[in-house]
Amino acid sequence: MKKNENGCKYIIVTGGVLSGLGKGIAAASIGNLLSGRLKVVPVKCDGYLNTDPGTMNPIEHGEVFVLDDGGEVDMDFGHYERFMDVHAKFHWNLTMGKVFKDILDKERRGDYLGKTVQFLPHVTDRIKEWFHGIAREEKADVLLIEVGGTVGDLENQFYLEAIRQLKRDVGRDNIIYIHLTYVPVPEGVNEQKSKPTQMSVRLLNEKGIEPDVIIGRCPELLTPSIKEKIGSYCNIPASHVISGPDVKTVYEIPLIYEKEGLPAILHSMLGIYSPPDLRQWETWVRNIKKNRVNPERTVTIALCGKYTALEDSYASVVEALTHAGAHHDVRVDLKWVDTGKINSPDDARAALAGVQGVIVPGGFGRRGIEGKMHVIRFTRENNLPYLGICYGMQLAVVEFARNVCGLVGANTSEVREEGVQVDHPVIDILPGQVNVSNKGGTMRLGGHDVELKAGSRASAIYGGQTTVRERFRHRYEVNPAYIERLEAKGLVFSGKHPEENIMQVMELPGHKFFMACQFHPELTSNLRHPAPLFHELVKAALEV
Ligand code: GLN
Repeated sequence: MKKNENGCKYIIVTGGVLSGLGKGIAAASIGNLLSGRLKVVPVKCDGYLNTDPGTMNPIEHGEVFVLDDGGEVDMDFGHYERFMDVHAKFHWNLTMGKVFKDILDKERRGDYLGKTVQFLPHVTDRIKEWFHGIAREEKADVLLIEVGGTVGDLENQFYLEAIRQLKRDVGRDNIIYIHLTYVPVPEGVNEQKSKPTQMSVRLLNEKGIEPDVIIGRCPELLTPSIKEKIGSYCNIPASHVISGPDVKTVYEIPLIYEKEGLPAILHSMLGIYSPPDLRQWETWVRNIKKNRVNPERTVTIALCGKYTALEDSYASVVEALTHAGAHHDVRVDLKWVDTGKINSPDDARAALAGVQGVIVPGGFGRRGIEGKMHVIRFTRENNLPYLGICYGMQLAVVEFARNVCGLVGANTSEVREEGVQVDHPVIDILPGQVNVSNKGGTMRLGGHDVELKAGSRASAIYGGQTTVRERFRHRYEVNPAYIERLEAKGLVFSGKHPEENIMQVMELPGHKFFMACQFHPELTSNLRHPAPLFHELVKAALEV
């Protein structure tokens, strides 16, 4: 029996040779190209045993991306949302941890009716049922499934076996396998080499999977002869070998795949028709590319945090600045400032020399926060545009409490855990977080409404709207007991939770641009719709 009763098509994206080739971007770009008329639902399969990446160190694993439903997922979901304009769900991310937990819970309930629960078929069946379940629930036209890691990884074998079986279950006209590999051009040889691709496809063949399309990640466009060669070794037409060249901006990838003929292949193999409309997208990409090389206007924004060692941990912030830059047609240069190294007002002044805007993004713990406070004070006192995000809002409140309200010993109670004495906890634990001891998925997470004060700058930035929805990930908040004292000195809380007394946006009237928010506006920014706070920060920076 065919399992795709609802007519869903399956596109499987696997990767080979090495990690870091941009499989997430490849999948997101495929989704972008098909989303014109079809409902494309991205699904990601991760081999690790964590339920989600929320408990992983961002330096090791990259940014934690928070979904509207509160799920914590990895950066690939950021790519999916930005390229495909979807709001993904936590359930669309399978991890081996989630799959096993589900199976073990079932086993304890006795749902296996006395059977021996085995890797085959129970794990693979569960994975397949998970896919079909999403397709059903979402009434998806296309399920776009990215398998994490590379084909040789032991931990992904059950996903590969499940997707192999899928072809038989759903019928060959309803599934397509796309394999992303690496085509190096070794220095000195100066020729595109197909061997790694051949080896990787061979490995995939051993698992019983034959790719229908191969995307060759390469420093340049693939030549007709290498396409021919790869095609013949891997049993596909040369036209099904698609170039994945290095690009100035990842947003160019859908445009390249389109020129390489990928949509037509997908349409004909799957019997679908959903032509992409890339006209506006092309304009923004042209702006980004032009400004990288030959900018008419440039602004430099300092990103001040402690995880600066790994730019990936602030990937969405960087993307949001790219979106804003594309719409203003300006080049946004980033300056990474490690606040662990800022120990005095002079350090802050030196670090911020020549920048037109400052962002203190989200963060946790004690390290680097006094440096952030120096940075924030400098922006406040020198009329330098400032956007504080989450921790960046909390620390702006602490700085204001200390230096404007004169509350000596003001701090966030978060640092108490690390032995710092806090005399004025202007930022305190959220009431709902007091008794929480588990670390996984327990913060205040996901989308919540924000009520904006009429007539405030925040409301103007959001085009006069009074209620907007943004995504949160925090444990601490502005302590309600200090709100009056802070506002008496001129700080305005211009965004609040509609019912609870949770402050969600603050601003300083009279300052060129001093805005901070408890949520993460970068998570909902995309090339079509840049996050308003980033858009306006860049605008303010242009006027410095
Ligand atoms: N550490 C702060 C909190 O838990 C801020 C979190 C964040 O910046 N994401 O509230």
